[in-house]
Amino acid sequence: MILKTAVDNSVVAVSVQSAAGLPRLGVRGACDTEREFSGAVRAADLRRVSPMVPRTAPETLLNFEIRFYRNAGRDLLADIDVRTDVELDCSRCLQPMTVAIVGTSTLQFVYNDEQAQHVMDDCEPVLIDEEGMVSLASLLEDEVLMSMPTVAMHDHQCRPAWQEASDAPEQVVESDRPNPFAALAQQWHQSDDPTDP
Ligand SMILES: [Zn+2]
Repeated sequence: MILKTAVDNSVVAVSVQSAAGLPRLGVRGACDTEREFSGAVRAADLRRVSPMVPRTAPETLLNFEIRFYRNAGRDLLADIDVRTDVELDCSRCLQPMTVAIVGTSTLQFVYNDEQAQHVMDDCEPVLIDEEGMVSLASLLEDEVLMSMPTVAMHDHQCRPAWQEASDAPEQVVESDRPNPFAALAQQWHQSDDPTDP
């Protein structure tokens, strides 16, 4: 109970916290006491998210909420929500663009690959380490990476990169250009001509 109160207090103060201070947790204990965490960390401080932080907004925050609990079947679960922005290349114009990431999952903690095969529907399996712990930072990173779109594209009609590569003037020249093989053949024919019997 005391633990829960302490957690509730930290929930009220929604200040930016240090990613290094995100705890490693004993999963059983966290689920049994229904621990909750919410707040924000600098996305750049999470190792696996930092390469995707928008270059124009290096202070981008990752907002999160996570709640550990057990269901009636005594499964070890957590509801997790993350929100942040990442930079991806538009697949049409290949220019960088900022994409809002919203991830929502129910995690089911498992002890081995065999259990991971049999998690409940709509649950994401998460492997607990040998000490029965998980790292909160790692759960946040996983959720962001899982929520990334496979393809990103500007809403506006941006100029396709292939159009830029083969621009109009060159195409015109190309259509007027004589076939180099025809020219060679003609040259060869001409130089051959005099010796022709
Ligand atoms: Zn684009």
